[in-house]
This record gives sequence, C-alpha cells and structure tokens, in this order.
Amino acid sequence: MDLNVQLEKKSPPNNSQADLHIHTTYSDGVLSPREILEKSVDAGLSAIAITDHDHIGALSEACELSTHYGVEVITGVEFSVSVNGRENHILGYYIDPDNARLTKALTFFREQRLKRAEKMISKLHTLQIPLSMDSVLHYAKHGAVGRPHIAQALVDGGYVETYYEAFTRYIGADCPAYESKYTLSPQEAIELIADAGGLSFLAHPGKSARNGDILELIKLGLDGIETIHPKHSESQILYYRSLIVNHYLLECGGSDYHGVTPIEESHFGSFTVPYDLISEMKQRLFQKR
Ligand SMILES: [Zn+2]
Ligand SMILES: [Zn+2]
Repeated sequence: MDLNVQLEKKSPPNNSQADLHIHTTYSDGVLSPREILEKSVDAGLSAIAITDHDHIGALSEACELSTHYGVEVITGVEFSVSVNGRENHILGYYIDPDNARLTKALTFFREQRLKRAEKMISKLHTLQIPLSMDSVLHYAKHGAVGRPHIAQALVDGGYVETYYEAFTRYIGADCPAYESKYTLSPQEAIELIADAGGLSFLAHPGKSARNGDILELIKLGLDGIETIHPKHSESQILYYRSLIVNHYLLECGGSDYHGVTPIEESHFGSFTVPYDLISEMKQRLFQKR
C-alpha cells in the first residue's frame, strides 16, 4: 500500500468531520470494513481511521472501498501498552500495513491473545462453565480474540444474561476467570509505529492514564493525544489540549466505535474532529521525511 497515495489525498471542503477511532470485525467490532464505510457516508464523515486492536486486516479492504464511498481512509492500529502497571492504549496512524516488523509483531500479539483466551476458558471450566474455544473463535472472525468475544460466547451459551454480567462476574479485572493481557512497553509501541512510517497517539487518556504517565509518554516520543472520546469530560479535553499546545503535539479524536452496545450507535457521527487535524498530521509526516 502506497503511503504517498494516502498523504496526497486532497482536502475536502471546510467543516468536514472525521472519526479517527473505529473498530471492525478484525478486532472486537461488529461491522465489516464495508459496513463501516456505509455508516460513515450516512453520518456525513469525510474521513475515518480504522484502528483495530493488534490487527491491520481491515485496512486493505477499507482503502480499496474508500474512493467508491467517497470517504478518505487512514490506515491505523491500536496497541495495548503497560505504563507503570496500568494498561494504556496507543493509536498508530498512517502506518504502512506491509511493513515487515509490524506484521511480524502483530502475528506474535495475536498468538498471545489466543493463549490468553485459552487460559481464561480453562479458568471458566474450573468454575463449572464448559465454554468451548470454538464458540469464542466464532465471534473473533479474524483472529484478534479478546474478552468481548468471550463475553459474547458466555451470553450466547446462556451462562450470563448480559455482556456486562460476563465482565462483572467472570472476566473483568479481579474476577475469577480473568487473565492479564500481554502488553508492549510504550517505547516498543512508539518505535513499531514509527518504523512503519506512522504517528503514535495516546488513546483515551481519560480512561486509564494518570497525568504523570502522559508526561512520561510524551518524553518517549509520542506524536499526539486523543482528546475527543466518549469517555472524556470537557475539563479533561481542555487539559489534554493544553498539553498538546505546550509540547508541540498533534490532536486526534473519535467515537471508539465497536457497535456492541446501543449507546455506541449514538456516538457514531457525534464524536468527530475537524478534518484540519488530518491536514496537520500529514504536514508532520512530510516534515519527518
Ligand atoms: Zn482503547
Ligand atoms: Zn479503541
């Protein structure tokens, strides 16, 4: 995939909006890349970034369909990292999906996700819940298996009433079937993204990052921070914007859409950022070359 083609896309008219944080069936989202593009047209978006967890499988299809739907697609990914013992997420934008180091690392992460799911299923077995790996993989169509897939299989098998109950009774942190996730160091994630020609952003800091963690990540070479996110308050957004200005960073934002809960439907098309932020990303990438 030629990154120059992505970078040379002409800017759409003023007031165009973009959603830079979307998941598909390639990780824990429920819609295919085509369905996401259809939804983006309906929501009037000019550009989107697909940012699946540890997976870039949706990118080639989404990029191919981009012209047909008239929605610019930015190649993205979302990594989990451990910062001072807390899980945080880092988004990579404008990554080259053919980058050898990146593809090798992603294969490794998916193997680790499978191992984690196997461990959680065996813990469920000891709790007299005979969930099968196949029933979980049925939901993880493209291999980036995660807890949402186990939750879905638990609901489907009639072991819990709701997805929420699956997390609060069995697979949430501190619950009896929980198993911790393999995580990268933030340095490794930032380097992987940079090696693949991309820009790294701290995702939804309001969900998990302490303010001190953010400053540490900035020192490690973070390119930007996600400000607009359904979990962020107005005061958090203002604080992240002040960091962005003070540290010469970029800004991104989006709905973090998975399509799993009804509330997320109202988020799609509502948590957007102006296209200008994409123009700034492109400018930064040209400067780095
Ligand atoms: Zn995340
Ligand atoms: Zn996400």
